[in-house]
Amino acid sequence: ITHLVWLRNDLRWLDNPALHFASCAAKEANEGIAVLITPTPGQWSEHNESDAKIGLRAGLVKHLAGELAALGIPLHIVNGDTYADLPEAIGEFCQLNDIKHLWFNGDLPIHEQQRDQAVCAKLQQQGIQTHQQAADLIVAQDVLSQQGTPFKVFTPFFNRWVSLLAQQDITPFPAPAAQAPAIDQDNALPELVWETPYREDLWPADQNIARQKLWQFCHHKECLYKEERDFPIIPATSTLSPYLALGAIGPRQCLEAIFYTCNQEEKRWQDSIWLKELAWRDFYRQLMAHFPFLSMSKPFKADTDALTWRKNDAEFQAWCEGKTGFPIVDAAMRQLNQTGWMHNRLRMITASFFTKLMFADWRRGEAYFMSKLIDGEFAANNGGWQWSASTGCDAAPYFRVFNPTRQSETYDKNGDFIRRFVPELSSLDAKSIHDPKPQQRKVCHYPDPIIDYKPARLAAIAAFDALKGK
Ligand code: FAD
Repeated sequence: ITHLVWLRNDLRWLDNPALHFASCAAKEANEGIAVLITPTPGQWSEHNESDAKIGLRAGLVKHLAGELAALGIPLHIVNGDTYADLPEAIGEFCQLNDIKHLWFNGDLPIHEQQRDQAVCAKLQQQGIQTHQQAADLIVAQDVLSQQGTPFKVFTPFFNRWVSLLAQQDITPFPAPAAQAPAIDQDNALPELVWETPYREDLWPADQNIARQKLWQFCHHKECLYKEERDFPIIPATSTLSPYLALGAIGPRQCLEAIFYTCNQEEKRWQDSIWLKELAWRDFYRQLMAHFPFLSMSKPFKADTDALTWRKNDAEFQAWCEGKTGFPIVDAAMRQLNQTGWMHNRLRMITASFFTKLMFADWRRGEAYFMSKLIDGEFAANNGGWQWSASTGCDAAPYFRVFNPTRQSETYDKNGDFIRRFVPELSSLDAKSIHDPKPQQRKVCHYPDPIIDYKPARLAAIAAFDALKGK
């Protein structure tokens, strides 16, 4: 082998530019390619990654190894603990295997960029050529205003994003070419020391299933997405986020599916609300890249750093365990703890409850989400938390505080979602389940509310109001 393709959060063989271009270059020169995976468990734990995400990653690597073996492409594992170990480890691997070219898709988060720079510097010293491609964002370039500055508000970002997308090639990159000899499947599957159990029944570690899920969603659900996406009991959203977070699905694959669907239904792709959600993903990722202080636990709005958040460990524990006494909040937190995923409406409700009513530091909630989410992604998670806490870019106005009971009555009208995850309340009727009476709580062995909504809301607003005078 001469060309090495280093895969990280792009665990797919289709629509993978690094793999595709490496394969083309190798074929032209009559050379071979191999794939490299570099597990860094110490780094994952430093980044607070969940067992669920680590488990799905391991499964995807195994699956990938099998698919690549069928194409005759070997998959190698070089273990490190943290990113700091990788320049040496990859350098040594390349030397031993006489690698001439390293191909990879760029990563946006700051530590990952530093990792890539360090690895490239090391390999270049060894005379190895490094080739970086773009594979993560839907619009594969900086989305900037006419003045060349990053957007701080979503709507103008989205308008520019759409106009750039209209000019972009959206054809997915094909699979790499097969090379001889084919590899025996039994030898292809690596032993992975970092396997952890996760809800495989919900997210099978198989890129083909992920792709099927994408097309089925676009065919059957995208047309109802606008009306149904806010109701957690309806499986109306794509649930593709874990696959997108680990790159088991690529941006052009999403675009191909959504453009095809819109075309079939004679709709403008620019009007797809689902596509707009993918634009939010790009928006937060670009913010993270343009404003490095976001990766250093800083709020986007600097003045909000002066807020004195409350630190109440008992309340924090109750929130984590889904025992706040607010049924919709508890159902949501239990969904997160049991599955590794939470519906978007519920992420907003629980984060708003945490930051406004508990008035707890958003960074603590952000970290807990990250430690549980199978789709945990720094940019989207940080963006979502800062949006909810009203500390972020284009965030919710601070005086708009979600009322969990009203949210519950609106988005889980019959209480069926609550019944699924808070079974002790399942006997209650659709009216009382959102805020059971004290006697009902006692009978159901369900806790009293840990927060008194009205004064908590006023206190949060007052704290933000006080910032204005500073
Ligand atoms: P769909 O509704 O089918 O949307 C399609 C895709 O668009 C998603 O898979 C996701 O990649 C992207 N997307 C959708 N909404 C958003 C959004 N608001 N911001 C950024 N991207 C979006 N999303 C993550 O992928 N990882 C996270 O760690 C994460 N943390 C969040 C924390 C909070 C407090 C909040 C409010 C939101 C967070 N989100 C996060 C965004 C959103 O909740 C999830 O992307 C969505 O629920 C995933 O479900 P889905 O795949 O069915 O989404």
